[in-house]
Amino acid sequence: PVRVRFAPSPTGPLHIGGVRTALFNYLFAKKHGGTFYIRIEDTDQTRFVAEAEDYIFEALEWLGIAPDETIGKNEKFGPYRQSDRKHIYKQYADELINSGWAYYAFDTAEKLDELRKQAESEGKTFIYNHSVRETLDTSLNVSREIIDERIASGSPYVIRFKTPVNEILHLQDIIRGEVKFDTNLLDDKVLFKSDGMPTYHLANIVDDHLMETSHVIRGEEWLPSLPLHVLLYKAFGWEAPEFAHLPLILKPIGNGKLSKRDGDKLGFPVFPLQWTTSEGTSMGYREAGFFPEAVVNFLALLGWNDGTDQEIFSLDELVQKFDLTRVNKSGAKFDPEKNKWFNHQYLQKKANEELAQAFEKDLAERNISTSLNVTRVVSLVKERANFVTELWDLSDYFFVAPTSYDEKAAKNWKEETPGLMQQVSDVLNGIEDFTSLNIETLLKDWMTTNEIGMGKVMQPLRLSLVGALKGPHLFDIIEMIGKQETKNRIEKAIA
Ligand code: GLU
Repeated sequence: PVRVRFAPSPTGPLHIGGVRTALFNYLFAKKHGGTFYIRIEDTDQTRFVAEAEDYIFEALEWLGIAPDETIGKNEKFGPYRQSDRKHIYKQYADELINSGWAYYAFDTAEKLDELRKQAESEGKTFIYNHSVRETLDTSLNVSREIIDERIASGSPYVIRFKTPVNEILHLQDIIRGEVKFDTNLLDDKVLFKSDGMPTYHLANIVDDHLMETSHVIRGEEWLPSLPLHVLLYKAFGWEAPEFAHLPLILKPIGNGKLSKRDGDKLGFPVFPLQWTTSEGTSMGYREAGFFPEAVVNFLALLGWNDGTDQEIFSLDELVQKFDLTRVNKSGAKFDPEKNKWFNHQYLQKKANEELAQAFEKDLAERNISTSLNVTRVVSLVKERANFVTELWDLSDYFFVAPTSYDEKAAKNWKEETPGLMQQVSDVLNGIEDFTSLNIETLLKDWMTTNEIGMGKVMQPLRLSLVGALKGPHLFDIIEMIGKQETKNRIEKAIA
């Protein structure tokens, strides 16, 4: 059965790349009737941020892609937090020591620094591997007794993987096809430390195995770890899951990977939810007024498409159509304008009643009490809105009379205009059935009868009622604000 996981390290707010990884795992699981679980990888205590874990769950909940299994939910393979699984890993590190796939190393940080610097001065990079391991302070050089004594006396150590020499690994990635690695270029990565904590690599492989992970779907930045991971499965004699490494998400302009800082620089969120630290607040999609469905939709298209031009997909549709083999290898450009476009599309699809409910909260916060039909106002202006938060600027004149008039437009205000507007006001005042179409018909009849050009009336009338030459169909506005308000506004404009 398909079992996939999202395995974030709680080192800060989950950014958009992490959310996309979670989403692709979710889609793949649902598509195949499998399970999507979340495991918290918090073995690196130095980078741990306490609020990050809750943030991850809250964000995925908001987006509608919560896991089937995780901390506190269907804990079939729990615990799901690696710091709660600490007791599990040591035996696996020991197993690799005993089978000769790993060894103890006692090198001090100073020594390693020195080696690094020395290599650098020769124009090389220091790799801790077969070329040097025999000359260093490791269990490969001394007897088991001496090692046991040193460990017993409390010497700090690490357990390193003993990478095989002279092998070219031909590995399979669902998205990339065959990927080749030369084992001579790999580090003997640290698997376990004397503080009792495994490193990411060991914990990740042990847990993926114990939690019966069928596919590992993760970001491209983990591709360099693939050979080590595959070798670890081999060392344990376990069957490896299948791997799929998702393309990078690139900056909207210039080159390189989208960074957590780009969002605030661009004035655009790259986090699902707002995140506040002593250094300030980073924007979140939720607080910026994005609909979760729109966020899911545009994230799905960051590196994937269904082979057609279709861009709008519901979550159900994504589940149906998602296919890992259709994920691109090359990086996906992050386009903030396109994200807004998606939100615009979803806003158009929302029921006016639902938008009105959200807008009414905004109105209340602005101390606007109104007898107008807010749903109808929304239906008249939403075409131009990307966000609910923009509805006010698009419709404020429905609720409050203009206090100023657009200067450019006021240039069309001629000497004869006030007199004309007074007549218009009288005509409107005499209309019984005060509905848009009827008002339009009667006013236009009056203009025709009196041979008054449209331009002479329509622009000044709009300016009087709206304060600028903007907004929907003028007769819809007149009907909405009503006879008395229309009269008041004209009077004010010609005063
Ligand atoms: N803990 C890793 C991360 O933070 C997980 C990588 C993986 O999926 O193997 O991204």
